[in-house]
Amino acid sequence: MGEEQILTLAISLGGLVFIIIVALIKGFLLSKRKFICSHCGKEFYPKWYQVMFETHFNDYFRIRCPHCNKKKYQKIIDEKM
Ligand SMILES: [Zn+2]
Repeated sequence: MGEEQILTLAISLGGLVFIIIVALIKGFLLSKRKFICSHCGKEFYPKWYQVMFETHFNDYFRIRCPHCNKKKYQKIIDEKM
């Protein structure tokens, strides 16, 4: 392996680690937030691993409800931090 290849590999590994750390922090913070299910109307706290890679739009996150098992855009209902 040439020096350039090692550098490219190091940069992509660094980027991957960075993405994982950001996702872990996001998951950890979101697991403390209260959500309301748009399908059954029950409140729940998501697991950190459920939210870390999920897409979201403002206060809406695509997560699976632990009560009815539907994966939909669920809204955060607690106070903003
Ligand atoms: Zn539900």
